[in-house]
This record gives sequence, C-alpha cells and structure tokens, in this order.
Amino acid sequence: MEKVITDGQLFVLKEKIEQAHRVVCVCHVSPDGDALGSTLGISAWMKRLGKECRVVVPNRFPDFLHWMPGVNEIIRYDKKKEEADILLRSADLIWVCDMNAPSRALEMESILTECMERSMGVAGGFMVMADHHLHPQEGFCNIQISQPEMCATCEVICHIMHQLGELSNMSVKEATCIYTGMMTDTGAFTYASNRSVVYECISTLLSCGIDKDKIYRNVFFTSTPNRMRLIGYLLYVKMEVIGGMNASLMTLTNQERKMLGVKNGDTEGIVNMPLQIQGMRLSAFISEDTEHVGFVKFSLRSVDDFPCNEMSARFFNGGGHKNASGGRLQCTIEEAIELYRKAVHEYRALLQG
Ligand code: 5GP
Ligand code: MN
Repeated sequence: MEKVITDGQLFVLKEKIEQAHRVVCVCHVSPDGDALGSTLGISAWMKRLGKECRVVVPNRFPDFLHWMPGVNEIIRYDKKKEEADILLRSADLIWVCDMNAPSRALEMESILTECMERSMGVAGGFMVMADHHLHPQEGFCNIQISQPEMCATCEVICHIMHQLGELSNMSVKEATCIYTGMMTDTGAFTYASNRSVVYECISTLLSCGIDKDKIYRNVFFTSTPNRMRLIGYLLYVKMEVIGGMNASLMTLTNQERKMLGVKNGDTEGIVNMPLQIQGMRLSAFISEDTEHVGFVKFSLRSVDDFPCNEMSARFFNGGGHKNASGGRLQCTIEEAIELYRKAVHEYRALLQG
C-alpha cells in the first residue's frame, strides 16, 4: 500500500476523527460512482465509529447507482439546501471527496467556500479533501490528500484507511462502496489501472467480503430497453468519425432526449463506445445540459497518451483526467460542434501520430 499522508497529517487526522461527533461528506456535481463510492464509503466508516454522518451531494445522480449501500440517506443540495447548509455549518468534520475545488460542486460552491473560511478559524468544521484530480485548489481544505496518479478517489481512501490502521476493520458496506468507485472510474479496470497496488486494494476489499461480480452487474447490466435504443440511435444515426483524425463525435439535444424518452443516466458510458473502433484515439459526447438551459456539456474519452483533460481545459472550460475529461460552456450545440472540430484540428498531430 502507498503512503498518501505525512505522519504529521496522520496524527492530526486521527485526532480530528476521534473528536468528531457530526461528520458530513460532500462531492462534485452530477456524482458518479467514485463520488458516491467515496462519500458513502466514508459515511459508513464514520457511522461504524459511532459518528453522526450525512452525505450531501449537489444534485441528482444516475439511477444505476441507486442500489449502493446508504444511498437512501443522501441529501440532495438542490432539494434541501437549508437542511444541508445547517448540517455543513454545524459539522465538526467535513470530507470533501472526488473534487479539487469548490467550483466543482456548482450550487454548493458558496457554502463550501464559507466552510473553508470558517475552518481556518476556531468555529468551523475541519475539512479533509480526498481526491485524485490534478491541480487541487490551494487552501481549500485543512488537509488536502490529492493523489492524481491514483485510479479513483476510492483508492485514495483505501490508502488513508490503511495508514489509519482501519483497513482490517472495514465492513462489507464500506468495501462495496470503495470497490464501486474504483471499478467505475477505471471502466471495470480497463484503463487507468496498471499500478499493481490497485489490485492489492481489491484483494483487501475481497477479503472484506464484497461480491465483485454482483457489483459489476448492479452497475453495468442495468440498461432499460430505452437506453439500448438510445445506444442504437447514437451509434447508427449520430456518431460521426472525423476523417483521418482518429476522432469521433456524438451529440444529443434536449429535443432528441424528449423524442427518445431519455432518462438521466441513460447516456452514461456511451462516450466510451466509439473507442472500440480500431485506431480510434478520441471520442466526444456533446449534449445540451438538461438542468442549465443554454449550456452544453462535453464529455471526452481517449486512449494512450492523448491528453483529453488538456483539450477540455483549453477549449471546453473543463478538465479531468488524461483519458477521461469533461467541460461545460454556454453556447449552442452547433457552436459546440464547431469548437470540437477546431480542437481536433489543433490536436491533429497527436491524434494522427
Ligand atoms: P464525464 O465525462 O464522466 O462527465 O467526466 C469525466 C471526468 O471529467 C470527470 O471525472 C471529471 O474529472 C472531469 N470533468 C467533467 N466535467 C467537468 C467540468 O465541467 N470541469 C472540470 N474541471 N472537469 C470536468
Ligand atoms: Mn473520480
């Protein structure tokens, strides 16, 4: 296992956990398997230690994660802002998971910034970041455990628990959440998962009694007939392979969503599919934001060394990981497509190489 915090930080963290009564875990907007896995995993751990713990997420999360242990206790900030603000203001320990800056929580940005300011004084809750995104915002949390080379925030948590001597005490519930995050952020260990220590973590989680095959089915074999039809439509009608560039693109408007009866979460993972085309290096899924009118979301996936986080940062007001990134812009879908074409053209040397 790897050392993710210094001995000094470990000492402080241990003390803060011991002393905490009220704990809150938060994560980024549109929580994915890793965001929920890390917050729910920590929440189950904190509860095992006798703490009151709540998970607050900015907005809705995909249906295929609704089976996760503890999911019914999640508080959605877009629905219960006042309750969540009170919880966050009165927490004595706040875990900030799978996000590197308060802006990644969109509507929760201001309360997190407030917590951050208060945490620097005596009154506020102690904030701990556990994350694996590049460029953590300096001074966001009291302890920032940022490990960009790790496959998932859930892996980071595994190492934190190891350093705290908690790994052998992990419950099936906790281990199930942690495994889910590692599995979803690596496409079931098909990318970003070459480090052997990833499998040391998995070995430990298996010893805790997780059923990894069932977790896989719970997450990946949950399509509705409608989602299968959406996949068919996107691949047959909408997928465009950009000639000579080893890049592809799919788009979805809200009108199409309506026409096809697309539910939130139905589009999840479809962006990966064009990478199954031989030689394909970059795939983009560009869609109208369902929650923020006038905004377009970009979702990018790549293979090998193509840096889609860099492309997202330069062109799409976003970021992420080398092989999986995203962004968000206020523009029309047509403008977004043009911008993507421009970005592909700009990166042609890397894409063709
Ligand atoms: P997805 O395509 O699954 O929405 O996002 C893939 C990854 O890209 C996420 O795990 C996250 O790291 C990053 N990402 C997605 N959207 C944004 C965004 O708007 N801003 C930034 N900085 N990163 C994003
Ligand atoms: Mn993650």
